[in-house]
Amino acid sequence: MENRNIQMCDLKGQYNKIKSEIDTAIHQVIDSAAFIKGKEVNQFQDDLAKYLGVKHVIGCANGTDALQIALMALGLKPGDEVITPDFTFIATVEVVALLGMIPVLVDVDPTSFTIDIKKLEEAITPKTKAIIPVHLFGQCANMDEIMRIANKHNIFVVEDNAQALGSNYYLANGTTVKAGTIGDIGTTSFFPSKNLGCYGDGGALFTNNDDLANEIRSIANHGMKVRYHHDRIGVNSRLDTIQAAILSIKLKYLEQYNTARISAADFYDSKLKSCSHLVVPNRVKWSNHIFHQYTLRVIDANRDDLIKHLASFGIPSMVYYPVPLHIQKAFEPYRTFNGNSSYPVSDSLANSVISLPMHTEMDEATLNFICDKVLSFFK
Ligand SMILES: *Cc1c(COP(=O)(O)O)cnc(C)c1O
Repeated sequence: MENRNIQMCDLKGQYNKIKSEIDTAIHQVIDSAAFIKGKEVNQFQDDLAKYLGVKHVIGCANGTDALQIALMALGLKPGDEVITPDFTFIATVEVVALLGMIPVLVDVDPTSFTIDIKKLEEAITPKTKAIIPVHLFGQCANMDEIMRIANKHNIFVVEDNAQALGSNYYLANGTTVKAGTIGDIGTTSFFPSKNLGCYGDGGALFTNNDDLANEIRSIANHGMKVRYHHDRIGVNSRLDTIQAAILSIKLKYLEQYNTARISAADFYDSKLKSCSHLVVPNRVKWSNHIFHQYTLRVIDANRDDLIKHLASFGIPSMVYYPVPLHIQKAFEPYRTFNGNSSYPVSDSLANSVISLPMHTEMDEATLNFICDKVLSFFK
């Protein structure tokens, strides 16, 4: 068998193309020895704010911290209910429980995999204080509807934008904005494999609200505004200078990177859409899809056998996510909250989804090879 060395995400290939720029930036930080709060951090925050068209970007240590800091900045209290989708990465929900709030898990839509709007509205009670929509796999949740519901019930919205940085949202009023800039606060992660990834851990929050921005900066910095004067309990969560320097360079390529992902997805679609056992990713009308993951649904066939079949040809694939949150042991106490005891869509996705290799360096020969092997499974 020829060795193609196919990877889910090719970070090395991506680095090789911008190696000299990245290496220079890293060395400049080391030479300056300003490892914490060096000038590159402010520079990157400004660069990203400009790119997103948002007033404030505040870096932090990772995307999970960004979510936690967002909930703290909104002044939410233990016992408050926070609505999240049931089908997401654990971080979205973990921070809610960690702060003593009650995660109210809501089923997702079977075509977009994002939070089900009707079930979301049904889950609202007088104790609901926030909604955390997740822009899953690179495509936005229906923010027009979410903002309508949130405004009606006076609820905060924190967009978990870890998987959709750079995605466009087409608001019902005709304007186009970047994902993560619509709610009260947007959060993201710069985990290496994300659409904008650094070379370690990193994250950020975005907001257009000056007061929230000040709260966020203070919380991320031990609850202080004036040095050694602590107004509130905070955390230590910083984006380090080397990561910021790397991110400023990679941000220049983000549109190009996302376009490469979209092209790879379109290629997959063209080969796989006619297979009756596969459902290619749906594109919603309110957002573009920047394919953090290319995720198919397998119909009337054994998804796990398909994974083994692909592996036998050296093709990696992943299941995001194999266990819905309501089934996770850690979330047992929240399983049947507000009568939300059944999650048919989330359960069925966990058993039927498969994500194929997706990154910025996919070439046509590799895509063809992968598609041929996927299709040969069903012959
Ligand atoms: C990656 C991710 C996070 C967490 O980001 P980290 O930087 O790994 O902490 C949160 N939410 C979603 C949806 C993610 O995909």
